[in-house]
Amino acid sequence: MTELAPYAVSEHNTRGRIVHEEAPHGRSEFQRDRDRIIHSGAFRRLEYKTQVFVNHEGDLFRTRLTHSIEVAQIARSIARRLHLNEDIAEAISLAHDLGHTPFGHAGQDALNACMKAYGGFEHNLQSLRVVDLLEERYAAFDGLNLCFETREGILKHCSADNAAQLGELGERFLHDRSPSLEAQIANLADEIAYNNHDVDDGLRSGLITLEQLATVPLVATHLKEVRDAYPELPERRVVHETVRRMINTLVSDLIQQSERNIGTRGLNTIEDVRNAPALIAFNPEVNEQQLALKKFLRTHLYRHYLVMRMSAKAQRIIGDLFNIFMADSRLLPPQMQPQANQTESDRARTVADYIAGMTDRYAIREHRRIFAVEEMPVSF
Ligand code: MG
Repeated sequence: MTELAPYAVSEHNTRGRIVHEEAPHGRSEFQRDRDRIIHSGAFRRLEYKTQVFVNHEGDLFRTRLTHSIEVAQIARSIARRLHLNEDIAEAISLAHDLGHTPFGHAGQDALNACMKAYGGFEHNLQSLRVVDLLEERYAAFDGLNLCFETREGILKHCSADNAAQLGELGERFLHDRSPSLEAQIANLADEIAYNNHDVDDGLRSGLITLEQLATVPLVATHLKEVRDAYPELPERRVVHETVRRMINTLVSDLIQQSERNIGTRGLNTIEDVRNAPALIAFNPEVNEQQLALKKFLRTHLYRHYLVMRMSAKAQRIIGDLFNIFMADSRLLPPQMQPQANQTESDRARTVADYIAGMTDRYAIREHRRIFAVEEMPVSF
């Protein structure tokens, strides 16, 4: 690794772990965080969770696992070029979606609606809950006992109410301070990854076309370049070559603009980072272009009627499961059974943890096991 900038997250300025542990041998604290995330059960389940398309709809579509790996790749490249800590950028990227429900945003909206009377459901907060509490792998503590800066990066957004309950970790939301530059990178790497892979997956699915996309400036520029340079190129390769160039442009622009922002601000320490506004950013013109692409995807892909039908089904499955487990908690598997003295709100949180942890196909199967009349006697 190249030498770190003085304002990068490092082992010298970390606020450490909640439960004290000996320093790791042969790897850094943040490499240890990354390794713990990769070995977690929640990380493996990302393989069977929807990004946009339900997991079994096609073998080539992104899942949350491949999405998270793409985010980590982009974040590491950017961190390295800015002399920031690649390892923590990677750890945050790999963990950022651990709390996602099955069925993507439709699943999150459905679970949030179910949890309305019990404090709501927010996937960012759930990712933190997974690494702080829900993973049961270590003898000495619940969760993964990650470093403060990794947990801070995972908690991208947070309401003031929730922030007030999170102690040190919630402070920045109450006092309008920034997270580390590495956390800011992971956040924007997420956007770069999904905007671009959703173009690719959307085209592959046939729900959007290249002609439609040619109305979006960011796509149009690169599409024209590719078609001019390679007039005979088959359509699939035109798509890959165009998307590749889009990612390159966004990553290069982000690096240049962020370098300028950091230079102007004259940072010396990580405290300077926390006191500054967000410094990892696109230049305004590229930002416009990337927002236009985002808007296009929302209108033409995420709200496509076939995606909406899938979302409606997903909401039905999640709503049904939540309601029946709340009505009769004896239907929950033994390890999820609430304690006798739990309040209704605690019980709802346990049910939400159980549902959020499900993969798409597990949720579908669980729904069938409980509701399908043709599944008599009950299957396992
Ligand atoms: Mg993501």
